[in-house]
Amino acid sequence: MRVAADKLRLSEISPGMVQSEIRAMTVACDRVGGINLAQGVCDTGVPSPVMQRAIDAITEGYNIYTRLDGIAPLRLAISEKLARYNGIDADPDSEILVTSGATAGFYAACIALFNPGDEVILFEPFYGYHLNTLRALRVNAAVVSMHQPQWGIDFDALRNAITSRTRGIVINSPSNPCGKVFTRAELDAIAALANEYDLFVVTDEIYEYFLYDAAEHVSPATLPGMAPRTITISGLSKTFSITGWRVGYLAADRRWLGAIGYFHDLVYVCAPSPFQHASAAGLIQLPTSFYEALSTEYQAKRDMLCAALSEAGMAPSIPAGAYYILADATVIPGSNAREKARTLLRQTGIAAVAGTAFFAEDRGENLLRFCFAKRDEDLERACDALRAR
Ligand code: PLP
Repeated sequence: MRVAADKLRLSEISPGMVQSEIRAMTVACDRVGGINLAQGVCDTGVPSPVMQRAIDAITEGYNIYTRLDGIAPLRLAISEKLARYNGIDADPDSEILVTSGATAGFYAACIALFNPGDEVILFEPFYGYHLNTLRALRVNAAVVSMHQPQWGIDFDALRNAITSRTRGIVINSPSNPCGKVFTRAELDAIAALANEYDLFVVTDEIYEYFLYDAAEHVSPATLPGMAPRTITISGLSKTFSITGWRVGYLAADRRWLGAIGYFHDLVYVCAPSPFQHASAAGLIQLPTSFYEALSTEYQAKRDMLCAALSEAGMAPSIPAGAYYILADATVIPGSNAREKARTLLRQTGIAAVAGTAFFAEDRGENLLRFCFAKRDEDLERACDALRAR
């Protein structure tokens, strides 16, 4: 039988989807045995109660599917943490979903809340997964630029970006890639618009413990009128240095949680069972001082890398949170940011990401993003190589 395959084709959006620059630079870096400051892989240690509980949970037989919204002790621990740290009141039985990382939480929330053709506002520079997840769901991202030096928001531009099709606003604070920590005043102004136009707010707070120079983390869900419309997403990847374990969570009003959980189940079924147990142990056992130490430790790493970038002539935009630095790459040869990233890798063995990965249109051509979630000895080697460039 002759089999005709000439009508087969990719979906309409597939040809526009390209491998992320972050993954591409990681591959290029591995090829030359360089130091990878491109990807947010924290290769710092896993806290011992978390590690030990994962091992014990596997040997104790916690290796099968869990309830679709996650194991009860973890949901309870998350609800206590949300109350204690964020000031969010979420019922562990109906308003919390354990997800396969914050990434899955964002995907499941967007598919549950937005229709193809809807518009959702993204602040720029943005995290590429946010943009591409919206694209994959045929949701149109309306980009609102934030401006250096402080990555300030133009609230007239934000209001002008709202149309009759707008259904939501995405906030990522502390931000990847620019390290902006949204102030309470900025969030109040965003909340006022969300209330006025009846919009969802999807907030990715995965870097909530990485705060420098006394920056304050404010969860949008705590602002007036915001609890019913806010989907608060976070996770343990960064805080416990377990990016490969895939445990995150979200909190949302029970009206939305069922549908979000349904879509999460459809793709991921559940977050890995033993790692849910380990995450619960971490949330229950680790003291406040553990989280405070994260900020101190990462602020020292930030300062080390910022100083080396300045000395190398690449003026850094000093982040107030998260663990990335956008630096000016004017001095690096290359006609665009991707070429500059490859030149820097060749010259120094340091992988960074082209700024264009975080901006729409041609913006970001003069920027490179560096990640400082690295062991001190690796970061020191990277700083030496940058200075010697
Ligand atoms: N959200 C942001 C803003 C990130 O930068 C990252 C990782 O780089 C993630 C989410 C991924 O989180 P998870 O590992 O929990 O999926």
